[in-house]
Amino acid sequence: MDTAYLKIDSMSPDPEVIARAGRILKEGGLVAFPTETVYGLGGDAFNASSSRRIYEAKGRPSDNPLIVHICRFDDINRIASNVPEAARTLADAFWPGPLTMILPKDSALPSETTGGLDTVAVRFPSHPVAAALIDAAGGFVAAPSANRSGRPSTTSGAHCLEDLDGRIDMILDAGEVGIGLESTIVDLTTPVPEILRPGYVTKEMLRKVLGEVETDRGLAEGSDVRPRAPGMKYRHYAPRGVLTVVEGDPGKVTSYINARLDEARAAGKRCGVICTDETAGAYRADVVESTGARADEESAAHSLFRILRDFDTRNVEVIYAEAFPEDGLGGAIMNRLLKAAGHNIVYPGKI
Ligand code: AMP
Ligand code: MG
Repeated sequence: MDTAYLKIDSMSPDPEVIARAGRILKEGGLVAFPTETVYGLGGDAFNASSSRRIYEAKGRPSDNPLIVHICRFDDINRIASNVPEAARTLADAFWPGPLTMILPKDSALPSETTGGLDTVAVRFPSHPVAAALIDAAGGFVAAPSANRSGRPSTTSGAHCLEDLDGRIDMILDAGEVGIGLESTIVDLTTPVPEILRPGYVTKEMLRKVLGEVETDRGLAEGSDVRPRAPGMKYRHYAPRGVLTVVEGDPGKVTSYINARLDEARAAGKRCGVICTDETAGAYRADVVESTGARADEESAAHSLFRILRDFDTRNVEVIYAEAFPEDGLGGAIMNRLLKAAGHNIVYPGKI
């Protein structure tokens, strides 16, 4: 299949391009498009065969449900039933924006779209291209991240082309996304709302408007409880090289990583480091990638997936990453980094 690759302005998308992309979706085709979080791989949420095609194009297991994207709050009632008051409260505070809610599914929505679950994930994105495309497609676009299953999510049109060229109908390239990490997922079907995936909207922000909010116990590092968002159980975001996260006192972290880098390079391996500006000059690696200033979590979120992909492009075989503090947005960054590392983390100097 030929994949049409079109540039589109992120603030004022060309209506003709949007109409063409919308037609593709209405006819059962697939389009990768930008959102404020990462790029999505869209299909018509009410078309079971579109959803099957999404799983196929990504190489994604079909029990890993998709997120349904809408462009008007009231449309939530077409895909979810018994929508609780909390959904309206959250929408008033965070929609359109990087938050996904889990609600009881309406029977009209094909079970292919929800991976066979009786709940549905709903998001109302703020990106002007996403909003216009959803509207042009009829209002309901099922879209997981636009990457091949297991690889880091895509944060630019070029990444989408890397993973999906020849597998989908169209890619809309609006340049780099803003946030760089996928949406926060909160489950509203449990007695106390529960975070199933951390993201830009933090637990503190959710608690301010909802009161009590918990985090799924399955997300904790080393937990033997199965995560309740099916996607979180799969290995994810992984670069091809072996990635180790190193946590502890900054001086110890730097000297530990340098010692491991010297060993790896002596063994003829190409090495990389993920760090911040403060320490970037200290490492003896082939590729040193800084996420920005240590205190700049937004910059770290924005660059993490791009950095992981760059290591693949540059054939890096052994990678060490400094850990990030886990408060605020750092929790979402560490969640992705630890998954990318297959939970391979070391604490130098800690007994
Ligand atoms: P992705 O679009 O690649 O970010 O993947 C969508 C994520 O949403 C996956 O991790 C899914 O497991 C999660 N998700 C989608 N629908 C549901 C649902 N009904 N219940 C729990 N998690 C869901
Ligand atoms: Mg994904």
